[in-house]
Amino acid sequence: MSPAQPVVGVLALQGDVREHLLALAEVGVLARPVRRPEELAEVHGLVLPGGESTTMSRLLETFELLEPLRARLADGMPAYGSCAGMVLLATKALDGRPDQHQLEAIDMVVRRNAFGRQVDSFEADLDFTGLPGGPLPAVFIRAPWVESVGGAVEVLARVPDQPVAGVAAGRIVAVRQGHVLATAFHPELTGDGRVHRLFADTVRAA
Ligand code: GLN
Repeated sequence: MSPAQPVVGVLALQGDVREHLLALAEVGVLARPVRRPEELAEVHGLVLPGGESTTMSRLLETFELLEPLRARLADGMPAYGSCAGMVLLATKALDGRPDQHQLEAIDMVVRRNAFGRQVDSFEADLDFTGLPGGPLPAVFIRAPWVESVGGAVEVLARVPDQPVAGVAAGRIVAVRQGHVLATAFHPELTGDGRVHRLFADTVRAA
């Protein structure tokens, strides 16, 4: 049954946790950091923030959250991964560490730091399927892109097909599979709450 006021956790092992907590509060959900299995058990959905997926992967093990998190995801808990969080949610990460854990919540292959040195960080306005209000400003920071997706994955946004985009043009940067959402970019940094609102709605509906 959907809770009237869902609690959304932010995985708080590393990365831009505070920005996600604020962005969630802005769209009217109760948000709290999650560092322990008991805290994970109490939330109705979880945000996996940006940071370093290799570090977060290691800390998931140290904090004994890896298996509980896999179990919650297998059980249908809504989740949203931004940047490093997207890498963690994927089935497979190219250019990752060989011992990096994958949560396999979205049937996709991602490439870490895919945009290369010249375009390490950049901004773009994206057409994002299902978001009202026009193009979404997106900030990319050493971002992954999605190389390929399975049949159950819905593609929500791609890098705009402009001459300046080069090899990045057309790359997939936002996806959804069931109640799990992922973006290669950082909506928690732009003040545009639409992606967090979309996730909050997903949690309420789940
Ligand atoms: N490059 C990082 C990684 O692969 C992600 C960067 C970010 O989250 N801003 O984990």
